[in-house]
Amino acid sequence: MTELSNRTKFWQSQDAEHHLHPFTAHPGLRERGVRMITGAKGVYLEDSEGQKILDGMAGLWCAQIGYGNEEMVQAAAEAMRGLSYYNLFFMTSNPYATELAAKIAEKTPGHINQVLFACSGSEAVDSAYKLVKYYWNLKGQPNRKQFIARERAYHGSTTVAASLSGLTGMHPQFDLPIEGIHHVGPTPHHYKFGGDLSEEEFCDQCVQAVEDKILEIGPENVAAFVGEPVMGAGGMMPPPEGYWPRIEALCRKYGILLWCDEVITGWGRTGEWFGSTYYGIQPDIITMAKGLSSGYQPISAVAMGGDIAHEIAKSDEEMVHGFTYSGHPVACAVALKNIEIMEREGLVGTDEAKARIAYFREKLETLSDHPLVGQIRTVGLLGGIELVKNKETKELFPDELDVGFKCREHCFNNGLVMRHVGNSMILCPPLIITNDEIDELVEKARLALDLTAKEIGVM
Ligand code: PLP
Repeated sequence: MTELSNRTKFWQSQDAEHHLHPFTAHPGLRERGVRMITGAKGVYLEDSEGQKILDGMAGLWCAQIGYGNEEMVQAAAEAMRGLSYYNLFFMTSNPYATELAAKIAEKTPGHINQVLFACSGSEAVDSAYKLVKYYWNLKGQPNRKQFIARERAYHGSTTVAASLSGLTGMHPQFDLPIEGIHHVGPTPHHYKFGGDLSEEEFCDQCVQAVEDKILEIGPENVAAFVGEPVMGAGGMMPPPEGYWPRIEALCRKYGILLWCDEVITGWGRTGEWFGSTYYGIQPDIITMAKGLSSGYQPISAVAMGGDIAHEIAKSDEEMVHGFTYSGHPVACAVALKNIEIMEREGLVGTDEAKARIAYFREKLETLSDHPLVGQIRTVGLLGGIELVKNKETKELFPDELDVGFKCREHCFNNGLVMRHVGNSMILCPPLIITNDEIDELVEKARLALDLTAKEIGVM
């Protein structure tokens, strides 16, 4: 290990003195020293020691068009110069917010046609939760206040969003979840939770569990079912074949709103503009963030369709919800430019985009011969690599070995960001990644797998 530069050491000590990091255990971080990311261009990050790192996670699942795009810089500068800020509260709007709302209505599936802006995925989730309650109050069914979510779901970290999340580790520190939220298991992902069942039988079991929960609560009390089309932060877990249309049918049968949390799966990640389209369903509500602006600005939205949009929009009373920065002109201008770039560059749904997704899948699958790899899974440009001790029985390494963390560290030290959730290694590269960069990504992933296997004595 070479000696760190003085500026890196200075930042590390400042950070250790004053900075609390999200989702981090601080003693370990402070002992080892934070890694400073000082720049980014295309699919690469650069740290304060000048190391170039291929970002296989698009930041936190968000940098669809990659980093450092000059057109985005211009769009932000132009908006900031012309209208650095104004709010939407006083019967006012701005061209960027208005045009972006229309653009979102155009891109979202089917009847979605009303949009409320917020700043983060969690804020969008909290807003959707409140709007669903408001809708049922307007409809004269105030009893419908129970929400069904899934075990191992991730919906964000504000109070409501963390409560809807089914990652139980997120709850005890903050006395969560709040009341009225029900997490259904099994987690709908066959490889990890299907046991001896076929995929079809497992799908039956998952759907039945949702219906049982609806009947247990009483259908007349259920407000909405919420789910990520592909579970992301829980470990990149696609659902069993046929799951989503059957969940949609259940929602329709019992008059329950279907809410897709597309903070990760929205904006081209699955190969369609939205994950709900990928799975052929028509949600009543979509929450979105991340890829909406490719992370260039913090912006999110709740998009609503059909009756819910109609009821809220036609109500004479003031809707007493919103944020200072809802529809921030600079954020909206940047999001509009981001969508324009995705359309112009053909990043979603074109032959070129489909070929990129096919290449990503094909190259990632070459890793399945590795002794640590139990399964490779992809949906669009989302990838998961499951680390197992025994490929046949799917037996996992003991938790103490922290094999996923070891693999992540070997990646980072060798110029690749790959995230881990337990034993699942996760990839979510920018949509602009080239075939050469995919080759580099897979090469570096194999090196990290080899180093991990050697470290734990498997190779
Ligand atoms: N919903 C989903 C599905 C997410 O994956 C995330 C973040 O990863 C969120 C909500 C929360 O978004 P944010 O971190 O912007 O609050």
